[in-house]
Amino acid sequence: LPLALLLLCAFQVCSASEGKCCANRVAPWNFSLDFVPHILHALDQYRPCSSQPSDPDCECHALTIRRDLGPYAEAGITRSMMAQSRRLGVVYQVIDGRIYRQPEVPHPKRCADVEDMLLGIAGELPNVEFILNVRDWPQVPFLSGFTGPVFSHSVSHQHLDIMCPAWSFSSVSGPPLQRFPHGIGQWGHMRRHMAAAAAQVSWEHKQPIGFFRGTRSSTERDTLVRLSRRSPDLVDAQYTSNVGAETVDEVPFSGHCQYKYLFNFGGITASFRLRHILLCKSLVLHVGDQWQEFFYSSLKPWVHYVPAPSNATVESLEQLLVYLRLHDDLAEEIAERGFQFVWQHLRLQDVQCYWRNLLQEYAKLLKCRVEQEPEFIEVRKQTKALQKF
Ligand code: UDP
Repeated sequence: LPLALLLLCAFQVCSASEGKCCANRVAPWNFSLDFVPHILHALDQYRPCSSQPSDPDCECHALTIRRDLGPYAEAGITRSMMAQSRRLGVVYQVIDGRIYRQPEVPHPKRCADVEDMLLGIAGELPNVEFILNVRDWPQVPFLSGFTGPVFSHSVSHQHLDIMCPAWSFSSVSGPPLQRFPHGIGQWGHMRRHMAAAAAQVSWEHKQPIGFFRGTRSSTERDTLVRLSRRSPDLVDAQYTSNVGAETVDEVPFSGHCQYKYLFNFGGITASFRLRHILLCKSLVLHVGDQWQEFFYSSLKPWVHYVPAPSNATVESLEQLLVYLRLHDDLAEEIAERGFQFVWQHLRLQDVQCYWRNLLQEYAKLLKCRVEQEPEFIEVRKQTKALQKF
């Protein structure tokens, strides 16, 4: 990385040049009691992400690719960088439109999910080699001296991993739930399912309370759970898993659409819930901005969701909810725009397009020829029987 960018990032200074570490940051805001100026300002600044509503050229998420590959733009990606990265993930190669990978992998189901997506675009890809991290946590800490490249589904501002769509967009597995032991469901199906659930309950009929269900995977979630205990008429937030403490049953994504205000928090990394709950046509309150997925920076605070700082107190969350109740029309408009964005610009074809553009741009930076590894196996379409698991 250029030294200037390293220094800016070390001090968490966001510059006009948009360093990787600084990108996506929601400008810190004071918890003022009047949010209308934030909303008006955000709407004034907002420009549609694509010149055509159907975004045929995948412009909507293009900046994220450019930003993530930025650190490699000058010197490219050398053979020795690839050699160092290999120990941090699964090595994939695309050669003449066929996909190969190392035979032994951690999380084979997650790999199968990603492969499902890649097989659909293999014919359009250049010869390329990349390292896919299928663990939860990103692998390239900023200022560690190690530069990657490693592809990860979720990164924080302290990581240099290149973001790629999460394995959970695809069909083969997905994170298991009590009622859905085979996973939360393929995104193409879940989109339709959630849009149908949203259509069943109009804004006026949604319960005007905040709602959250999930694991205690981050203590950031505690504040809302405390508020829920104190003001159950304002928030229903409970843990479905919390070591040594009382928990409640999980609620399917579609059940979330009954409520007006849905909370999203980072967990171990970014939570997969964000894209689902945005499809409820409820207002999403997105707490904290540490963890990102590839589509997060295309969503704009106050335009598509309401941002809240990760250190928000019980009182400030309470004030925010009371405020939103009093400004019901504004809340409904943000909820509608959040739905429209995910419905129009986070289709399966957008996810596939992201993979295609990412790999095409990344391949241009590779300074070494892709040489087929003799022990690698070719990735092929899963049979129906395997796809169930
Ligand atoms: N989830 C759900 N209903 C619940 C609890 C969780 O749909 O009652 C979903 C949640 O939205 C997320 C996944 O299950 O997509 C895992 O949730 P958890 O809180 O365990 O982890 P996270 O990924 O949010 O840290």
